[in-house]
Amino acid sequence: MGFGRDQQYNKSNFNSRGGDFRGGRSSDRNSYNRDEQFNAGGFHGRSGGRQNYNQPQDLVRPNWEVEMPNLPPFEKNFYHEHESVSKRDDNEIREFRKENEMTITGHDIPKPITNFDEAGFPDYVLEEVKAEGFDKPTAIQCQGWPMALSGRDMIGVAATGSGKTLSYCLPGIVHINAQPLLSPGDGPIVLVLSPTRELAVQIQKECSKFGQSSRIRNTCVYGGVPRGQQIRDLIRGAEIVIATPGRLIDMLEIGKTNLKRVTYLVLDEADRMLDMGFEPQIRKIVDQIRPDRQTLMWSATWPKEVQQLARDYLNDPIQVQIGSLELSASHTITQLVEVVSDFEKRDRLNKHLVTASEDKESKILIFASTKRTCDEITKYLREDGWPALAIHGDKDQRERDWVLQEFRDGRSPIMVATDVAARGIGM
Ligand code: AMP
Repeated sequence: MGFGRDQQYNKSNFNSRGGDFRGGRSSDRNSYNRDEQFNAGGFHGRSGGRQNYNQPQDLVRPNWEVEMPNLPPFEKNFYHEHESVSKRDDNEIREFRKENEMTITGHDIPKPITNFDEAGFPDYVLEEVKAEGFDKPTAIQCQGWPMALSGRDMIGVAATGSGKTLSYCLPGIVHINAQPLLSPGDGPIVLVLSPTRELAVQIQKECSKFGQSSRIRNTCVYGGVPRGQQIRDLIRGAEIVIATPGRLIDMLEIGKTNLKRVTYLVLDEADRMLDMGFEPQIRKIVDQIRPDRQTLMWSATWPKEVQQLARDYLNDPIQVQIGSLELSASHTITQLVEVVSDFEKRDRLNKHLVTASEDKESKILIFASTKRTCDEITKYLREDGWPALAIHGDKDQRERDWVLQEFRDGRSPIMVATDVAARGIGM
């Protein structure tokens, strides 16, 4: 099924998305009676009877073999190859992939597109993209959009900064708009798992910008802050939930949301999530989601742990990788390497800061390997009169937020960070 659905789910239909989640309209779409499909105990350990919302309950993997035949069908293939894409022969495609350093793996991979119009997004999405003033899709978008829109499970190996968020975000919006509206008590349709709060907030920004025209709600769920507001947002209903794994499990265990409606699952920065020890949580979460969902896994690197996760949870995936498999530096950054002794570091740093701060607009990020070094550097920079602030995992979330904001706004143009901020800082 392609965008013919636009006629059925056109913009005016989406107007019903905002206020009323009672979804009188859901009966116009695929019939979807949640109560018939899932008993009140849902996917929690204690089945039958009403769920006690005050008591955390262990999440138990549903017996999918039994559940599957009763699940409502859903659409996931929205891709129609554009005429001009169909006309390109294998040589042209090969050349384009080579130029853009794309490596593809898997069978029946759709051809890459080369401009926004060829992606075949509905107008309401395309208008938003054009409004951003982007010239053309990035490499990962050229190949990633047809892959994601085709409904296949996919793996994208691409770094932050490559435009990967939109690679899954825009097809996710199309996916949502083809599903029945949320009813009260429904969880999200699109779930994005992110390793850190900082990345989650970045993703949320993109979802908000591009989901606005179809009134898609999103919410972010992460640890380190009080749960109250997040609980209220979840209960209110959001088609997209962006979550760090631990806090999402908390919310599932206390019954504030559920994953019964998730049909589009994104694992963002999978390598980083595994590095941070989230594997058991990821597995617990993914086991709660219907197996015929579409799964999109994104990773900056492709180590064997990530490959194993893909083997376990993706179904006949297609893969695109931009650049080399080794972690490599961005081509847009000039790198200067200086080998100095510990004793010389402070002086060298001061000299670099003097040079860099000649440009009043410049912002300076200093990475340190440990939280302690991060604090030490910040302390001596401040003693030397530099407006530096530190950000690392021992700072509470409010302070991390504040520091990031000060840095973004340029009030404090020097930020000293551990790798908590290494990815997911969008300026
Ligand atoms: P990401 O890799 O998703 O973290 O994206 C990095 C930045 O690139 C974000 O600020 C995006 O808004 C921006 N971006 C995404 N797609 C494009 C594009 N096609 N052209 C220019 N910038 C883009």
